[in-house]
Amino acid sequence: MLSEWAEKKFHKSLADCSAAEAYDAALSLCKERAAALPRPQGERRLYYISAEFLVGKLLSSSLMNLGLWDAVEAELAAAGKSIAQLEDAEPEPSLGNGGLGRLAACFMDSIATLGLPGEGVGLCYHYGLFRQLFSHNCQTEQPDGWIEEESWLRDTGRRYRVRFGARQVTGRLYEIDLPGYGGKSRSRLRLFDLEGVDPSLIRDGITFDKTDIEHNLTLFLYPDDSDRAGRLLRVYQQYFMVSCAAQMILEELAQRGEALSQLDKRVVIQINDTHPSMIIPELVRLLTEGGMPFEEAAGVVSRCCAYTNHTILAEALERWPVADLEEVVPQLMPVIRRLDRLAKLRYPQPELAIIDGQNQVQMARMDIHFGFSVNGVAALHTEILEQSELAPFYRIYPEKFSNKTNGITFRRWLLGCNPALAGFISRRIGEGWKQDADALGRLADWKEDPASLEELLGIKASSKRALAEYLSQNGGFSVDPDSVFDIQIKRLHEYKRQQMNLLYIIWKYRQIKAGQLPPRPITFLFGAKAAPAYRLAKDIIHAILCMAQVVAQDPQVSRWMKIVFVENYNVTWAEKLVPAADISEQISLASKEASGTGNMKLMLNGALTLGTLDGANVEISQLVGEENLYLFGRRSEEVMALYAKGAYDPRSYYKTPLIEPLVDFLLAKPMLEQGDAEQLGRLYQDLTHKDWFMALLDLEDYIRVKEQMFADYEDRQSWAKKMMINIAQAGYFSSDRTIEEYNREIWKL
Ligand SMILES: *Cc1c(COP(=O)(O)O)cnc(C)c1O
Repeated sequence: MLSEWAEKKFHKSLADCSAAEAYDAALSLCKERAAALPRPQGERRLYYISAEFLVGKLLSSSLMNLGLWDAVEAELAAAGKSIAQLEDAEPEPSLGNGGLGRLAACFMDSIATLGLPGEGVGLCYHYGLFRQLFSHNCQTEQPDGWIEEESWLRDTGRRYRVRFGARQVTGRLYEIDLPGYGGKSRSRLRLFDLEGVDPSLIRDGITFDKTDIEHNLTLFLYPDDSDRAGRLLRVYQQYFMVSCAAQMILEELAQRGEALSQLDKRVVIQINDTHPSMIIPELVRLLTEGGMPFEEAAGVVSRCCAYTNHTILAEALERWPVADLEEVVPQLMPVIRRLDRLAKLRYPQPELAIIDGQNQVQMARMDIHFGFSVNGVAALHTEILEQSELAPFYRIYPEKFSNKTNGITFRRWLLGCNPALAGFISRRIGEGWKQDADALGRLADWKEDPASLEELLGIKASSKRALAEYLSQNGGFSVDPDSVFDIQIKRLHEYKRQQMNLLYIIWKYRQIKAGQLPPRPITFLFGAKAAPAYRLAKDIIHAILCMAQVVAQDPQVSRWMKIVFVENYNVTWAEKLVPAADISEQISLASKEASGTGNMKLMLNGALTLGTLDGANVEISQLVGEENLYLFGRRSEEVMALYAKGAYDPRSYYKTPLIEPLVDFLLAKPMLEQGDAEQLGRLYQDLTHKDWFMALLDLEDYIRVKEQMFADYEDRQSWAKKMMINIAQAGYFSSDRTIEEYNREIWKL
């Protein structure tokens, strides 16, 4: 199979091909096979519209889903090559920031596998999110290109004109076929690119002329929006995406021979967070242009749009100044004003207004008034939306609200990244769990079986050795595979509290200096990108990198602990790190993490959770029982009460014998020798005066429970039993279950 493609494309045998050429041949093979699969048809078609699809590398998952893995592996072996070598040659498309984009990618895999008539719609960024590099213990950003001469993209040749007032640009539709597991049907990612996009605009790093929208719209994902030009560019990008999408959706409705009035019967649009919200007024605009009366158009659109909320962080709720929208999309503002008036007629309360008292368009409010469904992404998150964040909306539209707890695709996050564990499971409960994740529950029957527990520990140990090997080749780290692997991998954000983990590490460092040794060495692993304009997040990265050097240069301490911060954390890194984790750090301030999905990946791979009762950790805790994970910290009600009263004062926690020396260490001599006084000082000042996400509040309890965890780790048998229970209970977090719920309760495809 591959050999034919190698001959055809490079006129040589597979054995004579470089890894890059062999990858290219495999890419062509997968594209051809995927394109030949049927696309499910149905009464109603889903368009899952999202500014992000963090798909990760696609070769392995395509081979697996198409059922080509074994044959290709054998053919490569005969040519002296391996799939891993080809994968190393594949660039990862970084078309997402983190969890929200990765969720969209897992959903596409489940939609394809379940054979649902649904597709993803988004933008074709040429450089995606930045590539992170560390220099002098600081994050720097570089463009991260992924589109090579041959890529996963297929050019459809279809074009759409998009107007920005007097300016006009053209969008071109590209597609990526996504085969479902079992190779029976496919879904597609449909990505719009700007015709005439010009990479030569990029100066040093990721800076570029933000005003040249005829040439920059699809260069990067979410450019820095700390200035007005950046903010406007984001609106241009969003409108470009939804205008192309709306035209495509109506075109396909017409191709099916349906009238515009049938839109809500034939189409459902899932709006992934508020980035695509302008599709609502854009569709209304197009329907009225087609002759439909305004109120009827608003009704039809409301019955086909559904909104997913992903955050309750106030700063992340999108609001666009009316003046910005007037400038970028003048044709849309009259529609938004009319929708606002319609909503105000029925519900005059100011807290429900689409255009608020500051003359800003509240995107989420538009989605709720003019969509038929609003969902949160974990039980606690939905409850907080209903009871506090969106309570005024829940009171008027209780029937629109529901919960859809996030999930992950087990194809990538178990079968793909941890085949040894997948085999272990199948040898005990058969293969059925690959189609029906609930069947994993039967693994619990082996939780007392010493031979199975022993084997499970052996698989974890060999995953740790494999990661140690990979780390030495990618980054030059040397880690001890017999140490405990304590892993925190996720975007860098104050609410996720990497700074609290750092303060624990400082505590441990001081303990070791004082002669209090842990039962065995610990490896603290981090992976995290900070938004380029998020100063404090970058300061936290700086402090962790400095601490890594402080530890490494101290011979007394470095025998007992090591800090590894991997550069450019992405899906590929996650696939290497997740199987090797012993401890899964899920330590967000309670009420702040909507769901988390990293917590699910790590649980599924046999890591034990160290976490707060936040997001989906609450459901993990209910599933495994409190004795099989490690909870600490204040509960969400207590935290929300502290915010409501403005009652949290970090100084009262700082000024305690336990915590003061830990925070002060940020500015102690060893740290200043490694790092920059200004950045370390800023973090110190923040922790002692503001600490908005309350790292000091939970620190003492965090230290206590983490210590318990390291002690418990030494009882290998009982630890292994907890691992087994976690894996057995992870079936609920399959994205197949999530997608079935969306379909049953919202989409009805
Ligand atoms: C799963 C994943 C995330 C989300 O992690 P959380 O811990 O849920 O925030 C972010 N980035 C990548 C690359 C992932 O694979």
